[in-house]
Amino acid sequence: MLSRSFRRIDLPDQIFDVAIIGAGPAGYTAAIRAGQYGLKTALIEKDPKLGGTCLHVGCIPTKALLFNAEIYDHLKAAKEFGVEISGDAKLNWTAIQDRKNKIVTKHAKGLEFLMRKNKVEVIHGFGKLTGGAKDGVVTIDAGGQQVRARNVILATGSAAKMLPGMQAGDRILTNIEILSLPAIPKSLAVIGAGAVGVEFGSIYRSFDAEVTIIEALPRMVPVEDEDISKELARVFRKRGINTHVGAKVDKVETTKNGVTVNFTTSDGKPQKLEAERLLVAVGRRPLTENIGIESTKIQSERGFLHTDEWMQTSEPHIYAIGDIVAGLPQLAHVGSMAGMVAVAKIAGKPARPLHRNRIPGCTYTEPQIGSVGLTEAQAKDTGRQIKVGKFPFSANSKATIVNSHEGFIKIVADAQYGEILGVHIIGPSATELIAEAVTAMELEATVDDLMFTIHAHPTLAEAMLDAAGSVNAMAINA
Ligand SMILES: Cc1cc2nc3c(=O)[nH]c(=O)nc-3n(C[C@H](O)[C@H](O)[C@H](O)COP(=O)(O)OP(=O)(O)OC[C@H]3O[C@@H](n4cnc5c(N)ncnc54)[C@H](O)[C@@H]3O)c2cc1C
Repeated sequence: MLSRSFRRIDLPDQIFDVAIIGAGPAGYTAAIRAGQYGLKTALIEKDPKLGGTCLHVGCIPTKALLFNAEIYDHLKAAKEFGVEISGDAKLNWTAIQDRKNKIVTKHAKGLEFLMRKNKVEVIHGFGKLTGGAKDGVVTIDAGGQQVRARNVILATGSAAKMLPGMQAGDRILTNIEILSLPAIPKSLAVIGAGAVGVEFGSIYRSFDAEVTIIEALPRMVPVEDEDISKELARVFRKRGINTHVGAKVDKVETTKNGVTVNFTTSDGKPQKLEAERLLVAVGRRPLTENIGIESTKIQSERGFLHTDEWMQTSEPHIYAIGDIVAGLPQLAHVGSMAGMVAVAKIAGKPARPLHRNRIPGCTYTEPQIGSVGLTEAQAKDTGRQIKVGKFPFSANSKATIVNSHEGFIKIVADAQYGEILGVHIIGPSATELIAEAVTAMELEATVDDLMFTIHAHPTLAEAMLDAAGSVNAMAINA
């Protein structure tokens, strides 16, 4: 039975102020904000549940599994902490899956509540534009119903790319299948060392699987600062994760017991890898086919839609947000902020465009990665004089207390004015610590401002103070 918010409604005479296609983090955030502004809002979703990739097969279930992995890692090291447990810690896969599913369900219900609270009309159906705006009104076909709106926001998200000739199934997996495996595989091969590939590699290694990651580019997490890539590769090696960068996958075959991956290493050696399962994590394609783009003036490139700084496409009254937008990182928080920007613009409220250099990027591996702004190489490429400070967690007392001293905080700053250009963290709680750096950069703080900001002791955040000090060769603890 359809839930209350998914009932079919009578729409012919209604004209919404804004209709949003897609209820992932980009779309549902836009809908909530539109409701808060008092706009008459429709949210069109093809799936039975709201939340999109992020809630159902992305951010939330992966981070739920990651927390299990963390607990299990701690238990394996219990003796070091003076905690005696009788026998070995064991994983109960069914209980882990149940917990993950409960978290997802709780938040999906939360979204339905938020739609009711903000008077958003949720329409269940596949949304397709029937053309551009006519007399200031855009018409959408939503699973056979006509939805008319003065403004439309496209937020249809993305899906995992597959390598040519391969199909996802029970051996070859995408982010969807790997989240609900019947059992923990003994071995896992991963193609792709971007965020999704390294996160699953890290999680399943903690769950005791043999993990091998194959990446075509010359380094792991290629969008990160080079020092971060090196440190991740070092710690992964220490954790027993095999990594091959600059490698080319030649052939993948499914066998009775798993998969065989034939690949060529960076130094030209052919290799054959056997694994129980293979995760293909080679990026995500925008879901913009069949949504009527061709009936409009919207400009696109390989399926990604071009927008201006207010997320408006070249078709008046039609906006695009989230994973389908050209030139923006495919991250939930980017999509949701883009939604808030677009809706503010539609409502005529104050807004600021997204600032490309102030987008935090987080990778939830062990060790975690959090970064914002320019890498050292990108900062050098701008032609300005820069200075760099780096502070290791091994010299931070809280990191020692929590027994997690791999990694560092690296700050890239303008040499003359001390403007913070980029912050790159790998280590404990990096995905939380990065928030301070984003705020500092948003407020245009300098390295000196950070050096005179009091950080509580003993905390991991103090490493930020020392990293700022190290830019001027004045870290206290190193
Ligand atoms: C394994 C994994 C882990 C991730 N972890 C993180 C993380 O930790 N942090 C982070 O920031 N990002 C993470 N991401 C990325 C994040 O999930 C995406 O950036 C985010 O979900 C994009 O939001 P969106 O709203 O643009 O699209 P989606 O979340 O993909 O939502 C799009 C929605 O639109 C619906 N839809 C599509 N077409 C139509 C149509 N024609 N009509 C009606 N409805 C339609 C879909 O059913 C879906 O509900 C992760 C991704 C993956 C795969």
